[in-house]
Amino acid sequence: MQSAIYCPDAAVVGGKMLDHPGLLVDPNGLIQRLDSVEALAVEFPEAMRVNLKGEILLPGTVNGHNHGFQVLMRGMGEDQDFMAWRSRVLYPVSSTLTPQEIYDSARLAYWDMLRHGITAVADFFYLNDQGSDNALAIARAARDVGMQLLLARTFYDWDGAPVRYRESPSQARDHTLELALRIKAEGLSEWATVHVAPHSPHGASQAMVEAAVAVQQELNTHLHIHVAEGKYERTTMLTRHQKTPIQWCRDLGALGPRTLAIHAVWADPDDLAILAESGSAVVHNPASNMILGDGIAPIIEMIQRKIPVLLGTDGGCTNDRHSIFDEMRTAALLQKVRMTDVSVIDADTVFAMGTSVASRALGLNSGNLLPKERFDAVTVRRDDPSLLPGPATTGHIVYAMGETAINSVYVAGERVIHEGQPVRFDPAPLINWARRWQNR
Ligand SMILES: [Zn+2]
Repeated sequence: MQSAIYCPDAAVVGGKMLDHPGLLVDPNGLIQRLDSVEALAVEFPEAMRVNLKGEILLPGTVNGHNHGFQVLMRGMGEDQDFMAWRSRVLYPVSSTLTPQEIYDSARLAYWDMLRHGITAVADFFYLNDQGSDNALAIARAARDVGMQLLLARTFYDWDGAPVRYRESPSQARDHTLELALRIKAEGLSEWATVHVAPHSPHGASQAMVEAAVAVQQELNTHLHIHVAEGKYERTTMLTRHQKTPIQWCRDLGALGPRTLAIHAVWADPDDLAILAESGSAVVHNPASNMILGDGIAPIIEMIQRKIPVLLGTDGGCTNDRHSIFDEMRTAALLQKVRMTDVSVIDADTVFAMGTSVASRALGLNSGNLLPKERFDAVTVRRDDPSLLPGPATTGHIVYAMGETAINSVYVAGERVIHEGQPVRFDPAPLINWARRWQNR
């Protein structure tokens, strides 16, 4: 790659819409300068010009929570509650997937996400088969489609779950450390980073959570945990341990500045104080929470307490979309209804949740399109009917824009979606495979 000057009609930089900015991106995919196109052209005459006439440049969006393989269960669990969906759909279907199907399902999910403007995803992965082969396969899938993967490798030992999810704490530890080494040895570090993910207070024992915390420290990485998603978990934990799920996590050392608490729907004011005190971030999955009838997470109160709140789509079968732009809109509308007050949250806030706040919480060097950041970006066509008549504002992006407006997607300076089509792979065989899988 050579240096390039990107020349869009407008761009959201540092959360502000700028008219006709120029961005100089170096051969390593890092933004070096932000200036007028004319000034950059004089200073860097050798740089390639990328004319984005008629397009708005946005930071890539970050999917803070997903289970990639669940894309295969789309359409199977509709209108069922969490327990019914888990026992009738998730457990039986996920038990049958072969390693090749796990790889292909990840490619399908990541392609769908890229197509919707997601440039990084935290995939909370638990089909581990007491090893590291399957997780390595999804890291390869990320590279093969061009997605930045935060591989939240699960620690799971609840004996009610399928055998392939389960390990002992020492197995989970060894296989996670082995995975980190294999990712490095295979040259996948550019595309995938290992995070640890004790499943949840209902899926991981105390010993399992403690093992995950130890590996987090050893790998100097992030920790993801589902917590307080459904009301039942809160009731059960209070009966069994006389602690809320969030208190239980705190007491095991699982909360801290690099913790991603997934869901936190059933969090009371004391729980929020604990999350704020620990520096933990929350991943809010509004569409998934709505589809499963979980409840509405108190994200207004979280934001007031300065808890970083990110957005996630959750798995492809509990949403059933892979779009963070969609979650921005849903998150804002849901809080306005919950509080019966239109002013409680605005478009800029939810836009940041899906971009800059998420990037910071997950340790990514992107999310603002500012100099020294990685060029993870999305272009949208301003003549798409969903963005007419304009003018272009973040409010239009959040509330009005349809996915048809998304044109190109860049990850680390490389264009991985061009005019809506993937660049790194031919989608036709993947489409055929997905159709055959569905018939099976
Ligand atoms: Zn989840």
